[in-house]
Amino acid sequence: MADRPTDSPTTMPAAFLGHGSPMNALETNRHTEAWRAFGTAVTRDVARPRAILCVSAHWYINATAVTAMAKPKTIHDFFGFPPELFAMQYPAPGLPELVDEIAETVEPTWIGADHDSWGLDHGTWSVLVHAFPDADIPVVQLAVDASKPFDYHFDLGQRLAPLREAGVLIVGSGNIVHNLGGMQPSMGEAGFDWAIRFNEAVREILTTDASRIGAVNESPDYRLAVPTPDHYLPMVYAAGLAAAADEPMTSIVDGYLAGTLSMDSYTVGMPVAA
Ligand code: ZN
Repeated sequence: MADRPTDSPTTMPAAFLGHGSPMNALETNRHTEAWRAFGTAVTRDVARPRAILCVSAHWYINATAVTAMAKPKTIHDFFGFPPELFAMQYPAPGLPELVDEIAETVEPTWIGADHDSWGLDHGTWSVLVHAFPDADIPVVQLAVDASKPFDYHFDLGQRLAPLREAGVLIVGSGNIVHNLGGMQPSMGEAGFDWAIRFNEAVREILTTDASRIGAVNESPDYRLAVPTPDHYLPMVYAAGLAAAADEPMTSIVDGYLAGTLSMDSYTVGMPVAA
């Protein structure tokens, strides 16, 4: 068998997954099924990723850092959930050597290496237990730097683009609309008007020209949809990757929850099924 020609490298897709409640880790629903189908399609139609770099809403700190441990621990960063959820483990290995590669790729943006404080939080493992249930692909997390403005995150997302050529599957995990304080469980899978307006404005941009994503920050609905940017910004990394590739994103699954959450997920760079 000949080696794969070096002039036709496999480019990994990138994605944003709307993770919603931690309970999705235990449940099977149309969102978790869509994440599973995405992971299956990546391995089947593209290639097995060398590593997964996850930008999780739940590692929101005042630094730009990546996890650098060989065996990242499964972090149960929530409370008030059943014991089965606290018992869940996602024992994927890390990939310490990826730290230098990421740092060089995004220069002159500085990235620190976290050797012992974090691991894999539920923003990462609640989706990966479905997308890559075998937990045998190394996973590295990138923190969302709370001290930086919007443009920094969009720019850093773009700078990560060469990693796609190096076999790294980049996944943002958050929620485009995420207002926990306003949740109305009685609304079920419906969204408030402002949530729908904002979510659809984001969809229009991501599926046409993701480089315009900053425009939605001026929306009158932004304050309600994005009361804090932690869950929104992982999508901005994915938008940066789509902009860098000059490709539109495509929807994986959509929907609302409790009026104030958008469950939309997107990908870019997946081959179209034959
Ligand atoms: Zn979350």
